[in-house]
Amino acid sequence: MRKWIVAGNWKMQNNIAESIALAKSIKEGITNLNNGEVVVAPPFTALYSVGEIIKGSPIVLAAQNMYYEDKGAFTGEIAPGMLKDTGCAYVIIGHSERRKYFHDSDEDVNLKVKKALAVGLKPIVCVGETDEERVKGVTQSVVGRQVRKALNDIDKIDNIVIAYEPVWAIGTGKVATSMQAQEVHKFIRDILKELYGAVAGDIRILYGGSVTGDNIGELIDMEDIDGALVGGASLKPDGFLSIIKTIDKKR
Ligand code: PEP
Repeated sequence: MRKWIVAGNWKMQNNIAESIALAKSIKEGITNLNNGEVVVAPPFTALYSVGEIIKGSPIVLAAQNMYYEDKGAFTGEIAPGMLKDTGCAYVIIGHSERRKYFHDSDEDVNLKVKKALAVGLKPIVCVGETDEERVKGVTQSVVGRQVRKALNDIDKIDNIVIAYEPVWAIGTGKVATSMQAQEVHKFIRDILKELYGAVAGDIRILYGGSVTGDNIGELIDMEDIDGALVGGASLKPDGFLSIIKTIDKKR
């Protein structure tokens, strides 16, 4: 059985003190997890402090982005080794906000995924179609292209997590139905099977897009949905904990 994941993407929210307070509340609210992992992705400035708070707890640290070079004259960028240094185990790569506002291309995503794996960070690779693409009926070709390009030239995918995040559902309150999400998750798993064979059955595919404690129950009942990448609802301890508790009970 695949180990579920609930990952909180705090985006560009929370200063250090707020991040510490949120991490403490989440830590206090989590008891033993049944076959699951809780991940938090604070802003870069709070990674180290949050890492110190969650030490010894079932919560794992993630970054929201990274660069694909080890070091050098890349003003404003963060190296993968620097993330490891703060205690990160995961890194979110190719979030739609990165693709949209910072022009992260499929090629950038692929370079980042390769580099993350090379240094021992587990990439959470985000893919998903826009509203316009869904209406045009090209969801599968868009998501298929993103998945294939992200994995280009990668032999081993055991440490990769995929997050299907329809762009139209992110931060909009418009969650995909469980059937819509399952259809794309299965499509992604089928691509992984075609490319990597049986190991595809072990890869976690998370759903992201307006997940709350109220809608996660239906989503997590789907065969190919292995957890959630959560934005807005991860910023309040109660909202985040209710997602975790629902999944923990059901899995
Ligand atoms: C996200 O940003 O990855 C996300 C899923 O946001 P929200 O949960 O707010 O839709």
